[in-house]
Amino acid sequence: MATLTLQGLVQDAIELLQQAQRIVALTGAGISTESGIPDFRSPGSIWREIPPVNYRDFISKAEARQQYWQTRRSLSGQVKAARPNAAHYALAELEDRHVLSGLITQNFDGLHQEAGNAPENVIELHGTSRSAACTLCGTRSSISELQERVDAGEVDPRCPVCGGYLKAATILFGQRVPDAELTRAKELTANCDLFLVVGSSLKVMPAALLPRQALSRNVPIIIVNLEATSLDEVSDVVIHAKAGFVLPQIVAQL
Ligand code: NAD
Repeated sequence: MATLTLQGLVQDAIELLQQAQRIVALTGAGISTESGIPDFRSPGSIWREIPPVNYRDFISKAEARQQYWQTRRSLSGQVKAARPNAAHYALAELEDRHVLSGLITQNFDGLHQEAGNAPENVIELHGTSRSAACTLCGTRSSISELQERVDAGEVDPRCPVCGGYLKAATILFGQRVPDAELTRAKELTANCDLFLVVGSSLKVMPAALLPRQALSRNVPIIIVNLEATSLDEVSDVVIHAKAGFVLPQIVAQL
């Protein structure tokens, strides 16, 4: 019979992790809330008041691009000020112990790399806010220089190479996840022997399909998330608690 106390669930997670050698972790916005970056859906999130600009509107409407740059200013301040928290460091420690075969993240904040995960082992499904990219030719450039242009009054910054609209190198809602990242994420998932979800509502596709892919091979699933997700019922261990509280305890006892 399943144990229901937090300590019991932590023990269940430890037992599963001890048997695994090719762990894949999927992280969402929830892993970074304890670093001061709000997620999209939780009560109190500013994104509930100002819905994020979607890709189609960004490309087709000047007002949407202006709204994008206005909201980006406050988010980029939070991302700049943020430092990795105990949950990020716990996942970096799993990599140090050579049991984490890859880390797939929906986040664009770069905190996993800052915590010590090797950049080549982090798949940023939704891009990064630490660079700028042209929406037409894809040329990467400095996000701080782009932000300076906007702060100096440039209303609709364009790419010097092709004239396309510039924005942070993140994936907006409605924008396609790059094939290369998605293919790598699926390959990692196809070869893992344990799938760990941390701080994701599992509502955003295609990221939410990855644990389902693991499940189809009968791979154990552990979820650490404050709220319930649609995969709770079919997962092996589900811990509804703060990732920064739970993950260090788990990793310390492995
Ligand atoms: P989400 O906002 O849909 O869900 C986050 C989940 O994390 C929620 O279910 C919440 O209960 C949980 N959570 C919040 N704090 C937690 C904590 N301390 N410990 C454990 N769980 C916690 O986020 P999502 O599923 O990642 O999807 C939204 C998309 O928005 C992401 O895919 C990402 O691209 C983008 N986003 C990224 C960042 C970032 O880079 N830090 C921040 C906001 C949004």
